[in-house]
Amino acid sequence: MLIVMDKDASPAQIAQVVAKITSLGFLAQPIPGGSRTAIGILRNPGPVDPALFLDMPGVTQAIAVSKPYKLVSREMKREDTIIRLPGLEIGKGRFVVMAGPCAVESELQALTIARAVKAAGAQLFRGGAYKPRTSPYSYQGMGKNGLKILAKVREETGLLIVTEAVDHDSLKLVAEYADIVQIGARSMQNFTLLRRAGHIGKPVLLKRGMYATLEEWLMSAEYIMSEGNPQVLLCERGIRGIGDHARNLLDLASIPAVRRESHLPIVVDPSHAAGRRDLVVPLARAAVAAGADGLLIEVHHDPEKALSDGAQSLYPQQFADLMADLQTLRPGGWC
Ligand code: PEP
Ligand code: MN
Repeated sequence: MLIVMDKDASPAQIAQVVAKITSLGFLAQPIPGGSRTAIGILRNPGPVDPALFLDMPGVTQAIAVSKPYKLVSREMKREDTIIRLPGLEIGKGRFVVMAGPCAVESELQALTIARAVKAAGAQLFRGGAYKPRTSPYSYQGMGKNGLKILAKVREETGLLIVTEAVDHDSLKLVAEYADIVQIGARSMQNFTLLRRAGHIGKPVLLKRGMYATLEEWLMSAEYIMSEGNPQVLLCERGIRGIGDHARNLLDLASIPAVRRESHLPIVVDPSHAAGRRDLVVPLARAAVAAGADGLLIEVHHDPEKALSDGAQSLYPQQFADLMADLQTLRPGGWC
C-alpha cells in the first residue's frame, strides 16, 4: 500500500504515519516526490486496511499497490528515477552511453579503448574485471588488478566506470572502485547478492536474465531497493530466442513495458543480444528509437585478439560512426 501525503503535509505528520506503519509491524519507506511525499508500506503479509490511515492528518490517499514489486513500480513512484553520478545524471530524458571491452585485459588495452570511446562521446567506460563465463576454461578476468586498471582509466580519461560483481567478495571490492556496479544476466536471481547490492551505496546496473520475464527482472530490482538502495538501472540484453542468427533475442518491447511498469531507467546492451558485430549497430539504433535511456556497447581496438566477446565488439571507428549516427535519432543530443 502507498500512503500519499498532502503536498503541504508537515514533517511531523509524515513521522506520525511512519510510526503507525512501524507499530503495525510493517516497514515504512518514505518516497519523496516532486510535489508530494508518499510512504510505501512494505513487508505486510496481507492486505492493509486503508481506513487505518485515511483519517490521519496530512493523508490524502491510501492506494493499494497491485503489483508484486512495490518500490520498483510506477504505482509507488510516478516520477522517473534519475541515477546521479559525479557530473552525470541518467534517466528522465538524459541519455548515456557506456562503452568498452568485455573484459579488462591489460592497462594498455583498457586505456587505448577508453581514449577511443571517450573521443567518440561515451560517458562511461565498461570492462569486466570479474567475468562470469559459461566455460570454467574461458578467461575469468584480472580480478583486483583489473579494478586498479579501471581506476586508472577514470583518472586519466574522466570516464566513469561500470564493472561487474559476480559474488559477495567481488561485490565488496567492485563497489569500492566502480561508479556503477553491474550485476550480470547470470546473477539476476542471485538473491543474496542482490540483497547485498542494496547496501553498497552505489548505483546498480541490473541486467535481465536470459530466461527472465519482465516481472522476475523487476522483482530482482525490488530485492536491491528493498534493502535501501534506490539507485537501480535496468539493462535489457536479450533473452534466449530460437534460431542462431543472433546470440539472443533483443526484447525491444521491454523498453516501453518497463517504462509503463516502473520509474527506473532502462538501458540496452545490443552487444550481448547480437553476439556478432554486424548486428550491433542496427540493434543499437532500434533501442534508441524505442526510447532507451542509454546504451552499453562492447568496443575493442583489436577484437580478433580479445580474450572475451571479440566477435561482437565494435571497432573504435564503427563505434564513433554509431555515435554520430545516433545524433540523428536523438536530435536533442546527449545528457
Ligand atoms: C557483460 O556485460 O560482459 C556480460 C557478461 O553480460 P551478460 O551478463 O548480459 O551476459
Ligand atoms: Mn561480454
